[in-house]
Amino acid sequence: MKCLLLLSALILSSSAIAQTYAIRAGTTIDPGNSQINRQQILVIEDGFIKQIGSQIAIPAGAQMIDLSAYWVMPGLMDAHTHLSLAETSTDTQPLESTYLRESTAYRALRGIRNATILLSAGFTTIRDVGNSGDYAMEDVRRAIANGLFAGPTVIDSGKIIAPFGGQSHDIPPELGRVWTFDYLDADGVAEIRKAVRTNIFYGAGVIKLALDNSAYHYSLEEMRAAVEEAHHAGIPVAVHVYGGEAADVAIEAGVDSIEHGFDLTDPQLKAMKAKGIFLAGTDYPRAHLDKLGTAGGLIPEPSVLAPKIIDRLARAHRLGVRVVFSTDTVDDMPGRTRADMMFDYLSVWRAAGISPLDILKSMTSEPAQLLRVDTTRGHLAVGQRADLIAIPADPVADIENLRRVEFVMKDGRPVRSPSGAVPPLGSRDR
Ligand SMILES: [Zn+2]
Repeated sequence: MKCLLLLSALILSSSAIAQTYAIRAGTTIDPGNSQINRQQILVIEDGFIKQIGSQIAIPAGAQMIDLSAYWVMPGLMDAHTHLSLAETSTDTQPLESTYLRESTAYRALRGIRNATILLSAGFTTIRDVGNSGDYAMEDVRRAIANGLFAGPTVIDSGKIIAPFGGQSHDIPPELGRVWTFDYLDADGVAEIRKAVRTNIFYGAGVIKLALDNSAYHYSLEEMRAAVEEAHHAGIPVAVHVYGGEAADVAIEAGVDSIEHGFDLTDPQLKAMKAKGIFLAGTDYPRAHLDKLGTAGGLIPEPSVLAPKIIDRLARAHRLGVRVVFSTDTVDDMPGRTRADMMFDYLSVWRAAGISPLDILKSMTSEPAQLLRVDTTRGHLAVGQRADLIAIPADPVADIENLRRVEFVMKDGRPVRSPSGAVPPLGSRDR
């Protein structure tokens, strides 16, 4: 009976994407190959890009989508999100207040809401790196994957692994280990291996460790254990680290990405390049930093941090480090969606002197490699999943045009169109 139910669910969801589409695109951009072409036809079948070219015979029965006045490119990616978390870590409101006020279920609901907003804005793949209670983002990932909601492909870290104390400070002993709502305490090689396995068991697609948030940090031996354990399971390792000796340990251990990395020196960036380690720099714009303050002591003063971030991003790019768009947005500003706020980060990339085409790479083909989805996503190419967006103005001429996404296709299914937004329902609802 269970098998029958499962089978009927599969048929339902596959029938929803069985439609063949032929897209007439004014201009196509494949940032990863620096390819820009005019007057292209894309044939989308069973969720995949089947053909691209200027002289393509449109298959009988295909539904035409006219994007001849648009720039069509692969869906966007953000390598560092916390979709189930909201504005809790300000100077006046500590991160721990989340544990008192929000259940894992509530956080999952926020996660799915933000996920649908992001998809509608053009983000078709995101990597969520923790702070989701008892694996809320795993349920968000499953709900989207099972067709309950239309949302981006979610790669989730599960709980953040850290030395004793998570990212908390000054918690009185009688309160107990409140941080374990969001963190796994792991000290020593054996505990780290167990923590990595625990997250993988619950569905993690990336392992996230917080390395230098305390007076103590992981040793090389501990970090190597995390990397070895994750890589055995085919899963990359992302490490929260600002710089210093802890960054040396992360780089030496061969992690896959350094998150934040605000204090990275040129020699450290060069070592990252040599080892193919990505920088997910969470490059906050000044306006967001001003609102966050020091985030309860988690980050330096805005006047110090803002110019430092621009300088570090510029140096990393100049030295050839693989940089990925990564926002760490957890704030909500009145009248603005989380997607609006993520696009604010483009101003930092522009200030760092990075060209629009390179920024687009950092939002498509580069994160696809870091997230290990590059064989199916991140390019505009035959054989890739049809995760596509269309914009009525050229993002290579002005990267800010990314804010104007009017068409989104996810896995071969239009979820937003210029003629009117398609409601963000999943394939089960059709
Ligand atoms: Zn973060």
